[in-house]
Amino acid sequence: MPQPRSDAPANTYDVAVVGGGPAGLSAALSLARARRRVIVLDAGEPRNAVAAHMHGVLGHDGIPPELLRQRGREEVTRFGGVFVDEQVAALALVDDGRGVHVRGSAVAVTARRVVIATGLRDGLPEIDGIREQWGRGVLVCPHCDGWEHRDDIIGVVATGPGGIDQAHQVRQWSERVVYFPNDVGEPSSRMRRSLEVRGIRIDPGRVARVVSRNGRLAGVDVAGRRVAVDCVFTSTRLRPRDGLLRGLGARVSQPDGEWTVVDEQGRTSIAHVWAVGNVVDPRSNVSVSLGAGSLLAGAVNADLTAEDIDLALVTAPVVSTTP
Ligand SMILES: Cc1cc2nc3c(=O)[nH]c(=O)nc-3n(C[C@H](O)[C@H](O)[C@H](O)COP(=O)(O)OP(=O)(O)OC[C@H]3O[C@@H](n4cnc5c(N)ncnc54)[C@H](O)[C@@H]3O)c2cc1C
Repeated sequence: MPQPRSDAPANTYDVAVVGGGPAGLSAALSLARARRRVIVLDAGEPRNAVAAHMHGVLGHDGIPPELLRQRGREEVTRFGGVFVDEQVAALALVDDGRGVHVRGSAVAVTARRVVIATGLRDGLPEIDGIREQWGRGVLVCPHCDGWEHRDDIIGVVATGPGGIDQAHQVRQWSERVVYFPNDVGEPSSRMRRSLEVRGIRIDPGRVARVVSRNGRLAGVDVAGRRVAVDCVFTSTRLRPRDGLLRGLGARVSQPDGEWTVVDEQGRTSIAHVWAVGNVVDPRSNVSVSLGAGSLLAGAVNADLTAEDIDLALVTAPVVSTTP
């Protein structure tokens, strides 16, 4: 196996990547290829685990998401990267300011830099039967799954004012769209008109249940009626899995306070701690996560190189220039 360029002691790495989804794996691959000692610690619960197929990722359209992760692991391993299946419980800055301690239940390592790529959690609307269909008949991303439901009867269940936009979006894939305002309330007359002129039906009843038959979504129950739909698009409450960043006091965005602030390459407000993918960017689909991981890796490697230069200058023997 190729060896990274380092004589560091065991359990000491150039970079620890926390999270082995597309963002973390992409960063790990570039850093391992740069001959950095890389460890990836991954709890193995990626956001799209429920989806059978992944779409819109160039060169990989339609493959199971697990296959991308498996290939990613193989590629990172090929360049000397190490994997531990482990939930990281805590991070702590090293006393001398030279890195970060990373601790799980069975593993403790120290790394010069840490990349947090822990993703986000989707909070589903509270509707009976919705979890059973999550990622199969109940979907969030028209660009990911719209093609597979082209010309179907598509229900759009609003969870906020963006529901109308989502109804207009999915109309691109099917002429048969039913919009359920649900608890959001009646659309304004202008909004209602915009839906009507595009042939989007509005059903004012509250969706009480998502109905499955033989594992497939068979409709929704609304105020004592069954409405036939082939799938449902909705929006989830996006919550970053950012406990490790919060634990270090990383700065979050204002005024909502939900998302950790990073610069355009992924540097957080905490020294040596970087973050990438859905944990800092809810819009980061698989392709964007892959790209962001690669961009971040270049910046982390440059940051390490700058430190390598400083260390070399400090430790190099003094050469006398006087005769
Ligand atoms: C149902 C569904 C379908 C989707 N389909 C598509 C699609 O077709 N195409 C597309 O481009 N996008 C799709 N997405 C979006 C896609 O899932 C995300 O863009 C992508 O997963 C983000 O990658 P990530 O690496 O940031 O996070 P994730 O893929 O979620 O990976 C994060 C990893 O970090 C791990 N982790 C979390 N906390 C810790 C910890 N403390 N210690 C160690 N490990 C930890 C998790 O277990 C997980 O393995 C879909 C999303 C959903 C919900």
